[in-house]
Parts: sequence; C-alpha cells; structure tokens
Amino acid sequence: MHKISSFLILGLIVSVLSSCDKRISTKNNDHGFDISAIDSTVLPCDDFDQFANGMWKKNTQIPSTESSWGAFEILYKANEEKQKGILDGLLKNKNHKKGSNEQLIADYYRAFLDTISVEKRKTAPLDPYFIEIDKAASYSDLLKFYGKMPNIDNFFNFYVDADQKDTKTNIFTIVQSGLALGDREYYLSSSADMENIRKEYKKHIFKMHRLLGMDSLKAVVATNSIYNLEAKLASFHKPKELMRDPIATYNKRTIAELKALTPNINWDKYFEGIGKTPKAVVIDNLDLFAKMNATVNTIPLADWKAYFKWQLLVATAGNLNKELDKENFHFFRTIKMGIAVQKPRDERALRNTNRTMGEPFGKLFVEKYFPASSKKKIGEMIENLRIVYKERVDKLDWMSDSTKVAAKTKLDAFTYKIGFPDKWKDYSKVDIQADKLFENVMAMAKYDSDFQISKIDKPVDKSEWGMTPQEVNAYYNPMNNEVVFPAGILQPPFYNPNADDAINYGAIMAVIGHEFTHGFDDQGSQFGPDGNLNDWWSAVDKVKFGERTGKMVAHYNKFEVLPNLFVNGEFTQGENIADQGGLILAYYALLKSVEGKPEPKLIDGFTYKQRFFLGWAQVWRDKTNDEALKQLIASDPHSPPKARINAAVSNLQEFYDAWGCKGGKMFVPVNDRAIVW
Ligand SMILES: [Zn+2]
Repeated sequence: MHKISSFLILGLIVSVLSSCDKRISTKNNDHGFDISAIDSTVLPCDDFDQFANGMWKKNTQIPSTESSWGAFEILYKANEEKQKGILDGLLKNKNHKKGSNEQLIADYYRAFLDTISVEKRKTAPLDPYFIEIDKAASYSDLLKFYGKMPNIDNFFNFYVDADQKDTKTNIFTIVQSGLALGDREYYLSSSADMENIRKEYKKHIFKMHRLLGMDSLKAVVATNSIYNLEAKLASFHKPKELMRDPIATYNKRTIAELKALTPNINWDKYFEGIGKTPKAVVIDNLDLFAKMNATVNTIPLADWKAYFKWQLLVATAGNLNKELDKENFHFFRTIKMGIAVQKPRDERALRNTNRTMGEPFGKLFVEKYFPASSKKKIGEMIENLRIVYKERVDKLDWMSDSTKVAAKTKLDAFTYKIGFPDKWKDYSKVDIQADKLFENVMAMAKYDSDFQISKIDKPVDKSEWGMTPQEVNAYYNPMNNEVVFPAGILQPPFYNPNADDAINYGAIMAVIGHEFTHGFDDQGSQFGPDGNLNDWWSAVDKVKFGERTGKMVAHYNKFEVLPNLFVNGEFTQGENIADQGGLILAYYALLKSVEGKPEPKLIDGFTYKQRFFLGWAQVWRDKTNDEALKQLIASDPHSPPKARINAAVSNLQEFYDAWGCKGGKMFVPVNDRAIVW
C-alpha cells in the first residue's frame, strides 16, 4: 500500500488540523460555491487563487492549534464532529463486549483521557523496552529487538505489498528510514531555516533526556550520539526525487543475496525478531545498505542503544506524561510546523482514537453517514471519466496509435472502490484497556505490524484499503490499477448532490480525474493494466512524454512559495501531472454532460465554464503558516495549495478562454505550457 499516490499527503491532515474553531460552515449558497469568498479587486488572470478565495482568506485566521486551515481541514473537522457524536453514544456504556468495535473505540479514548494514570506512571511504560535494549550485547541483538518492535525506526523499515513484477503476490520490501526529522535535507541543507531546526533538534533531544531523568553530562553524550548517527544516515539516504523511480527502487534479492550484499548485518536475528523469514526481499536503496554494511560495526554499541531508545521515545512521547508530551509538541509542532497551541486533551483523544482505530471507527461512521446514493452517483462519474479519458487519448497529437491502444487497454482495466471496504479488518483480539494508554498504543501498532508480516509471500488481497473510510483524501494504487474514494471526501465542498454540476465537476470530478491520471504520471505510466511494472510505451512516445513531463517540472520549479523558496518541480511532478490531467479531464466531462442541451445559464454572473474553475479553487482554498509551508516543500510530494490552483490552471488554454485572459500575471506562453494529458 505504500506506493499509492494520494490526493493530498497521507497522514498530514491527521497530524496538522482540528481545533475548537467553530468556523466549520462554508456559507455555500445553493449552488455549492461560496460567493462571499471572491475578491473582485483582483483579476482572475492575475491571481486566480486570490480572486476566488481572497475574501475568505482575509476573513479567516489559522486557528492557533493548527498549521493550516482550508477546505480539507474544515471537512475533516466536520467528519470529526460526527464521530464525536458516535463516540458520545459509546461512552454512555461501560460494558461493551470485549473486542467489539464499540469497546475498542470507547476504551482507547478513555485511556487517552485518563491523565491520572498517565501522570502516575510517568516514563515507567518505557522501562521494559529500555531494559531489553540495555541487555543487548551486540548490534545483532538490537536487530532482533528491532524486529519485534512494531513502531520504531532503524536505518531501514519495511512494508509488505504487491511485488511490482508479480502483483498477485506480496513481497517484503525494505525501505530507507530512520530520520526523526523526516528528510535528509533537514540534516544536510545549508539553509538558515534548516540550520535552525538542527540547532533546536539537538536542544530537544537533550531536554527529553533530562526529562527521562538523565544527568546533564550523560544527556549531552546521548544527544551527540543520536544526532551524529542520524546525520550520518541522512548522508546515505538518496534524495526524495530519486526515490520516485519505480525501477531504480525495485531491487529484488533472495535472502542469500541480501546476506551476501550486507554480511555485517545479521538478518537471521532480524527475521527471528519479526517471526518470519521471507523468501525474497525488495530493497529500495542498495547504496544505503552497502554503506551501512561498511559502517554498522564502526558505530559504538552505546550509540546504537541511545538511538533505538530515542526512536521509541519519538514514536510514543505524545502518550507519556505531560512534561514529555509538552516538550515533544514544542519541537515537532511549534518549532517545526509553527503551531502555537496544543489542542485540548479531549480533542487530541478523539483525533488519536480516530487515527489509530481508523477502520473500526470508520465502520460506525459510514453506517450512519454515508448514503448509498452517493456510491451510485460517484460510480457513474467514474465511468464517465473513463470514457472522456479514452476520447482524450484518441485526440493526443503527440502519441502514436500503438501506444494509444495500450493506454486505452490500461484505462479499461482500471477498477475502483468507493466509500468503505467490503471486508473489514478483525481487531477483536487486540487488548485495549481503559487505563493503559501506552500499552494500547503499542498493541495497535503491533496489530498493524503483525498484519503486514502475515502477508509476507502470500497472495495479494485486492479488497484491502490503504485509507480509512472517514479520510478526506483519495488515492491511486498502481499495483492494483485502482482508484479509491473514501466516504470522507464524498461530501461538500468536494461533492454536493444538490450543487450546480459545474462546481461538482471542478471539485470531485477533478479529484477522480486526478487519481486516474496517476495511472499515467511519471511513475504510474510505468505500470501496465495488471499492475505489473511493464513498459507499454513505444520508444518515440516515451521521449515525447518525457519532454512534456520535463516542461511540467520546469513550470512548477518557477513557482515561488515564500521569498526564495520554490516548489520542487521534480519531486512534485507526479502530483502536478495528476492535477493538470484531472482538471482537463473533468472539464471535458462537464462539456460532454451538456452536449445537445441548451448552454447552462449564468449563476451569480458566472458562466458554467468559469464556475468549473471556481469549484477547483474552492477545494484548494487554504492558509498555511510559513513553518508548515517549509515542511511541506521539504517532504510533501504535492505542491502547496496556491500552486495547485494557479500553476495548474495557468497551463490550460481552457482556463484562459473561460475567463477571457489575453495576458495577466499568471499568463504562460503557449510553448511553455505543461500539458501531458
Ligand atoms: Zn495525487
């Protein structure tokens, strides 16, 4: 599931939003568009985002508990309000059947709010793990410990998903990992911002160790050990742009080959830890393993121990006593993301329960809030988009007939999922107790990890979901060649059954088009109809495709997010291709829907073609603080919201025509426009 391309960054929405803010209604008129958001002092051809959303931005403040605020956060918050209602009902009963979804959700939530137990136990929940780490006599012993641990990091981590060259079978995939700051840039970049984060990070490591009860001298030693180990590791990581290449990151090795590649790493111990030895593995960054093999024994055992303890602490600090929780928030949320105030405990309890109990909670959510009519309507929209995509392929002037046939074969093979899974995961054996927050967190992480391990070398279960039903997001999974739309996003302003069609097409239809286009972006285009890595392109067409994606990279590289901070066009190209494709496909689907009918009338003074683009802009209305923007640029494969509006529409002649633009600040000369699909 880790190759999936989502509509926005996975997990981000979960970690950055929510608040006690009450502005959750978007004063939408009957047509689905918030007319009061428009800033008519700005020309659409100069800055479409400001035109469509300017007054909303002027009247909106990012809540102090958030790093950003916009349509996604507002809808996510609305979903949470609904879930809170479900939860309140569950909390009235103290005797839910052990292992039932109701018991799991209610007791997980209760444990988060049981701050008396949390404070009383302080850091004691860490003890059994720290003792085991201390007992290790070698790095090999630590590898076994690491294998058993569900939620900490080493220089590598793993997931189990379809083998890219045999998508019917799961394979154990080992990926570069182990940087608590998230991306190598944080350790290597010479920018003043990154230097500051490094300085603050070291202070943070030191403080956390002091809070664990360590004396200053030892805390300094631990800080240096941990930081230096991560920095060394960062220098072995490949840049994120290079990790996008599905072929370069597919290095299948038998276990014998893995051992020959890295004789200094005791894989037997590691697999003993996870409880299973795979038949083969895929390695995403061979170079990292070669370098770690040469390095692993030069790092003192004490440093490795400090590092593993730190990884566990980073993963769990939010579930420990107040001092650790506060310091963890201070660094990772305030310093790194600019969030001033931590949310009240009850809101965090809901958020954490929702995140950790995603499927059980989602099941109750869709039973109450997802109408069957939405499923039917979205299914029809998906089929319409498939037809329009095929017509669009036929019209491409740069692609040869043989590649067109192959592209349409792939389009025919697309499958889809809407709303929620047909088959729910069984959590009934997980032991969740109302006064054991830390143990609950570990138990759920262990469940997820064991679930992955149980899939090793087994046939792929195509019914599995990579998101929870209540998420405000969507994804494409190239190995299943499927598009997936959780119930959470199938609501206003993305999909409003009562709204003007043009708004819905600019919103949810463009989302559907976005996910379809992921099947044909720089990564997805390398996978065939059955999900296998498979080159179905003629050599000439591939060169032409590369010229177009190259323009896309150049176009977004020019987008300035903050003074001297630009979008990383290479890293974000898949998402940018998907935005451009999604918009154009949805636009022509809208035109097709009115074929043979009288032209839709003006609404609020706008043509239906103009309303289409307003629908898109409304979905991406957003305010994000500078710190969070910097983090997005460093680690999110999506462009920031303003670019998703302005950089995307400025590629399209259809946009210029709809708004009568002959020039304007956003205007891009025809030859520089990046149109792939
Ligand atoms: Zn996407």
